[in-house]
Amino acid sequence: MIETPAPAAARADAWTLAADAPLRARNSFGVDATAPWLLELHDGRALPQALALPQLRDRPLLVIGGGSNLLLAGDPPGAVLSLAARGVAVLSDDGDHAVVRAEAGMSWHDLVMWTLRQDLAGLENLALIPGTVGAAPIQNIGAYGCEAGERIAAVEAWDRQAGAPCRLAAAGCGFGYRDSVFKRQPDRWIVTAVEFVLPRRAQLRLDYAGIGEELAAMGIAAPGARDVAEAVIRIRRRKLPDPAAVGNAGSFFKNPLVPAAQALALQAEHPRLPVFPTGDEALRKLSAAWLIEACGWKGHRDGDAGVSAAHALVLVNHGRASGAQLLALARRIAASVQARFGIAIEPEPKLIGADWQDG
Ligand SMILES: Cc1cc2nc3c(=O)[nH]c(=O)nc-3n(C[C@H](O)[C@H](O)[C@H](O)COP(=O)(O)OP(=O)(O)OC[C@H]3O[C@@H](n4cnc5c(N)ncnc54)[C@H](O)[C@@H]3O)c2cc1C
Repeated sequence: MIETPAPAAARADAWTLAADAPLRARNSFGVDATAPWLLELHDGRALPQALALPQLRDRPLLVIGGGSNLLLAGDPPGAVLSLAARGVAVLSDDGDHAVVRAEAGMSWHDLVMWTLRQDLAGLENLALIPGTVGAAPIQNIGAYGCEAGERIAAVEAWDRQAGAPCRLAAAGCGFGYRDSVFKRQPDRWIVTAVEFVLPRRAQLRLDYAGIGEELAAMGIAAPGARDVAEAVIRIRRRKLPDPAAVGNAGSFFKNPLVPAAQALALQAEHPRLPVFPTGDEALRKLSAAWLIEACGWKGHRDGDAGVSAAHALVLVNHGRASGAQLLALARRIAASVQARFGIAIEPEPKLIGADWQDG
């Protein structure tokens, strides 16, 4: 007799489901919130069965990774899903490039270091970004002149609209500056794995935000990809507050994209304002950090909600600030930038329990 394997959902270890689950340890701001239901999925094959559970079915669903790009201004209204599978493998390798597949629950930084240990380049500038692989395509994470979308070959996801798994090639992911099709349709996609195409021979990008100087300080004249990652790690450790020490979500505001004419007019008035090209002649990117610092917010503190003294873009939780208090501070900052420069700045993290436009 042929034995039929039990469906994954029937296995006791496929998931854990908890009611009224605290989320404080699951968001890098360290604010209090409670999930009515929290499902931790250990076996990705059981996703369809997990989504059919009465606690998840027909309810709003928040997929949570490391919680490093979230502001919980209130409790999530429905269930919270955390994907725990962390597998990683080389799918193919032609000697010039390898295709690497990593599951959504893997730590992003662990993936970067894993690829470097396989002598694969391409992700070195993105070392030490907190969070998971599954979240990387959502806002197309970027740092030090690189974006994850440049290295992504395909994204594997569950399409909640179709009720089926799918695989989107990079061209279908709509990657832009801190943007993607997954971010634009947040209730549709659950990213289950990401495939990367990575070169064996590194084409290093060293000309961004002090990488060259850091390598020189490290005494490295002919760097490889691992050296670049090490330089990026050192710079980031110096510049960005560690969420384990003080709650934060990295850069809280996106750099605003504005018409080129408006950028040039502002720069004529404020010659120190940093203005960056965007690849689109009609648009320029302004430094949100500069605009916020010019309005006097750097180091500001409202109780336990504050702005980092080291980096004007980073909102910090000095202790017991609530998500609502951090949001109120963010709104005051944005209003002052709007009033002084006529520029709308918007948050980068996903807001839960509030709508930015309602402020
Ligand atoms: C100190 C610090 C530094 C940072 N530096 C950078 C930086 O340099 N560049 C940068 O781009 N970002 C940076 N960030 C932001 C953050 O690290 C990234 O956005 C990261 O990708 C978030 O990953 P996460 O797993 O924590 O996602 P979460 O915060 O858990 O979720 C973020 C969003 O993605 C969605 N999501 C998460 N996983 C999935 C999934 N599997 N399927 C579908 N949706 C999903 C969530 O619903 C939510 O909308 C920084 C944050 C911190 C705290």
